[in-house]
Amino acid sequence: MQALVKYEMGDGYLELRDVPEPEAGEGQVKIEVHAAGICGSDLHIWHGDIGIPLRLPVVLGHEFSGVITAVGHGVQGPEVQGLEIGHRVTAENSHTVCGECEYCMTGDYNLCEGRLATGYAYDGAFAPYCVVPAERVHVLPDTVDFLTGALSDPSACAYRAVCEKAGVHAGDTVLILGVGPMGLFNTQYAKACGGRIILAGTSADVERLEIGKGLGADFTVDVTQPGAVDEIKHFVGRSGIDVVLECSGAPDAARLGLELIKKRGRFVPVGIHGRPFEIDLDVILYKEITVRGMFSHKYEAWEKAIALFAQGLIQAKPLITDILPLSEWEKGFRRFAQRKAIKVIFEPQRR
Ligand SMILES: [Zn+2]
Ligand SMILES: [Zn+2]
Repeated sequence: MQALVKYEMGDGYLELRDVPEPEAGEGQVKIEVHAAGICGSDLHIWHGDIGIPLRLPVVLGHEFSGVITAVGHGVQGPEVQGLEIGHRVTAENSHTVCGECEYCMTGDYNLCEGRLATGYAYDGAFAPYCVVPAERVHVLPDTVDFLTGALSDPSACAYRAVCEKAGVHAGDTVLILGVGPMGLFNTQYAKACGGRIILAGTSADVERLEIGKGLGADFTVDVTQPGAVDEIKHFVGRSGIDVVLECSGAPDAARLGLELIKKRGRFVPVGIHGRPFEIDLDVILYKEITVRGMFSHKYEAWEKAIALFAQGLIQAKPLITDILPLSEWEKGFRRFAQRKAIKVIFEPQRR
């Protein structure tokens, strides 16, 4: 089968290759991939500047959905694990974890030191078929189509940031910085929690800010325009900004968030910056700001994300701008890198 393989570290070294079709081993299921999205971290892998362990050569792709076509030995039937051939599913990208470290023992397997992920260290979903551990698989309700189901991963990330880490409550004023897929998912979750949402982007984000409005942002702003900060302050009024979700990965945005957040506010870094930069730690001290980190996700966030897709409270489709066959992988990667696309989906079953 044709699969998109990263075969050497460094910038590039990514190509479509003929690889053997995988078989479901002990405790695994084989999935026919119907939709697989490009994640920001796939761009980092493409350019060779990723901080997550890789084992090369590897088939990329970790945000996907499809149909189970085979179950390996030891996978429990529908009455136990709920998995059988024909089920429409998606899967978490945590592939193997050690099961013995402090984090695994306390249920935080996303933080396991020995964590190896699908699409990074194990062959992923930019291929017609992939295999994953059955315990990482989540069944999609009939009302969640493949395109939406493929974005369970970024949606689960946003659930964690907004609901578990920031703890957005009804009436909170929430500033979301950045209008990529994470900013747009965070907007929807913060709205679903009852927040009043300010969505901030740059002059390159005019269309995306419009999409954000459609997804629940109460006020959108281009921070590169003169007077933008005053406009935000005017909209916020006396109550102040309770929560900042930094989804842009831009140092100026992080600094703006710390400047605007109210005393005792909650600040969650969501976007990856990729390099150190200067912030004024005293601001956190004087304002008694709570900063909460967030990495990857776990079982509960996935179940919540999928249930919210099914209820229609969170939408993925407005974020999907490009649907391509795998043969056009390079076009998809380039459009995503150049920010012409918000979310690119490959359909590996398509020729
Ligand atoms: Zn991802
Ligand atoms: Zn562990």
